[in-house]
Amino acid sequence: MDSLNRFAAEKLARIRAAGLYRGLAVTERGPGADAMRDGRRVISFSCNDYLNLSHHPEVKARAQAAIDAYGAGSGASRLVTGNHPLLVELEARLARLKGAEDAVVFGSGYLANIGIVPCLAGHGDLILIDELAHNCLYMGARASGAETLVFRHNDLAHLEELLVARRAHCGHALILTDGVFSMDGDLAPVRPMAALARAHDAWLLTDDAHGLGVIGDGRGSSFIEGDKADVPLQMGTLSKAVGGYGGYVCAARAVIDYIRNRARSFIFSTGLPPASAAAAIAALDIIERDPVLRAAPVAKARLFTDRLGLSAPQSPIVPVIIGGAAETLAASAALMEKGFLVTGIRPPSVPEGTARLRVTFTAAHDDADVLALADAIAALGLIGQERRAESA
Ligand SMILES: *Cc1c(COP(=O)(O)O)cnc(C)c1O
Repeated sequence: MDSLNRFAAEKLARIRAAGLYRGLAVTERGPGADAMRDGRRVISFSCNDYLNLSHHPEVKARAQAAIDAYGAGSGASRLVTGNHPLLVELEARLARLKGAEDAVVFGSGYLANIGIVPCLAGHGDLILIDELAHNCLYMGARASGAETLVFRHNDLAHLEELLVARRAHCGHALILTDGVFSMDGDLAPVRPMAALARAHDAWLLTDDAHGLGVIGDGRGSSFIEGDKADVPLQMGTLSKAVGGYGGYVCAARAVIDYIRNRARSFIFSTGLPPASAAAAIAALDIIERDPVLRAAPVAKARLFTDRLGLSAPQSPIVPVIIGGAAETLAASAALMEKGFLVTGIRPPSVPEGTARLRVTFTAAHDDADVLALADAIAALGLIGQERRAESA
């Protein structure tokens, strides 16, 4: 075996020994909550398409029409010739929804964060990041070269302590957090965090990948209690509740103009395909006009937590913490036997010792299926396990 193959095989052996090996399973999702996995029809509780818009007839029709009008690809980066009219329209729509002056769309949420963060902070600057923030915010911080300090999850006192200690020694400061945490489903304390940021002249960026479309009247975590919270950088993705693909950030006009001029993942990457832009615009139309649809995923999550006596959900994501990777895989397999697809999440996606079932709810779930899943989880004794893990 040559050195490259030997390197990969040894790495894989270690990943397998730790119970962390991941294989790709083919999944065919339908328009509802069901999916085909390994030749079996199952009900999926592992999908971020919270409003099932990826299969909405209107969304699909407008994506198809965009291919007919503009082609299957955008042909170049945005700054060359890839800036087709649908992208301009999409950015205006996002800015309006988010109450911002302007928006810029990237190829994906991941590309957005690894491009935006290094534009806004560099050597001599300070980044403060929530310990449970999404990987792409960490990768953006690493690429920036700024001094990066991690604050305890949602701990404003710790964040303030770090600002008091380091802010005066740095050029400018950037605070990075998820608005809705992707593996825990809880919300950042956006309003008080925005006030703290303002008091220390730090710029707050919220990654609202899991907020758009499902909380804050569909406008995300900045809009939970009515008026827009003072968040100057509202970032998100078009790949979760919007049902398609692409990333974005909404901010003041000059900030967006600067990001378009400097973000490497914007400049050196091809513009989003016309079909993706058209699908996102159609999905935003539906989100804006349908309050019942927007509220459905969290209502389904509430049905589940009520049945199990868990605390009320803040988003469509409910974690059932198990602890060990092997136990989590066993639980996921046992649920699969009963026809429920609930993916086990293991490190490095979550911290060591907090492997879990990540249960996500969509508007298309039947109440009876939600209750049946809750009962299946209770029957496996998994809720008791969660309590033990918390008290340990
Ligand atoms: C999914 C996700 C991303 C990445 O978005 P993509 O568009 O899928 O690349 C970024 N941040 C958070 C919090 C996410 O959950």
